Amino acid sequence: MKKYLLDLTQTQFKAAAKHIIPKDYIFEQIMRWVYEKKVSSFDNFTNLSKDIRTKLSENFDLRTLSIVKKEISNIDGTIRYTFKTADKKSFFAVFLPSKDKNSVCISSQIGCPVGCLFCSTGKSGFTRNLSRGEILEQILQIENDTKQKISGVLFMGMGEPLFNYNSVISALKSLLSKNEFYIGKRHITLSTVGIAAAIKKLVEENLNIRLAISLHSTDDKQRKRIIPENFGFPIDEIMNAAQYYFKKTNSHLTIEYILIKDFNDSPADAHKLARLLKRRFLINPKVQVNLIPFNYVRGSQFIPSTSLSIEKFKNILKVSGIIANIRQAKGSDISAACGQLGY
Ligand code: SF4
Repeated sequence: MKKYLLDLTQTQFKAAAKHIIPKDYIFEQIMRWVYEKKVSSFDNFTNLSKDIRTKLSENFDLRTLSIVKKEISNIDGTIRYTFKTADKKSFFAVFLPSKDKNSVCISSQIGCPVGCLFCSTGKSGFTRNLSRGEILEQILQIENDTKQKISGVLFMGMGEPLFNYNSVISALKSLLSKNEFYIGKRHITLSTVGIAAAIKKLVEENLNIRLAISLHSTDDKQRKRIIPENFGFPIDEIMNAAQYYFKKTNSHLTIEYILIKDFNDSPADAHKLARLLKRRFLINPKVQVNLIPFNYVRGSQFIPSTSLSIEKFKNILKVSGIIANIRQAKGSDISAACGQLGY
């Protein structure tokens, strides 16, 4: 049975292909075709002999995903991709163009086991984890399709990345590696609902990427109404883990807060959030809040906060010394914005 090359680390690939690759320099040439030139077919590895190319194709798959749908936003050029896997499952990723850098928002799972009530991915249920290769291939396919260089990666698509820990860590190592994707740690953000134990483990990996905590509430009872049972971790434990990550890695920390009308968007909620962050991090410009206007999804019981309440919420944080940004919804006309990646 063929192996999926992107699922393998370089060491694993070298071991699996030792009967095909006679010399180290040929191995290095192959890695350059895969990660630097990002060529999608062994046939196009033109500096290799025909014999090696044939053997590679017989033993390895270079791509397993196909793009089955592509929706382009008329508003901002955001592209929502629907990918199909080799086992015929579909999932999404989003290309986010911008003047200074193009980013992708990629998925780590097909569906999501967490089931946040404001998120259409959560409503789709959970199918399976994506493999290391399937995570990385989203970026290669989008680069190839858009002919644009990707220099920012957000693990904010379908799924809770820390529930697919090993594949996500392996993909992150490839993204950071000088010999592979070579994307700076400041340009990679992993967003989590707050799996406290895994956040602490992530510190030990020494990757120092940016972390985003999907907090959305400062009160456990209130949070349980949108994130079922808080997914096992009370806010206090999540914040302990976030504080630990911040202290050890010195990377930026983002607190994500979806604003839902008459639910978590009152001035009192804003004051509570400001107090919580000041208590935990004092006033530190490296800890910022992303205010995300709730993107309505069909059948949802929630409605978006008004622009006035969003501004008021932001100002309360600002007056308290907390930097808060209102995240502009990207691709909302094609259901590519935050929380809209459902079927
Ligand atoms: S918000 Fe994130 S963790 Fe919650 S259901 Fe959606 S994808 Fe899963």
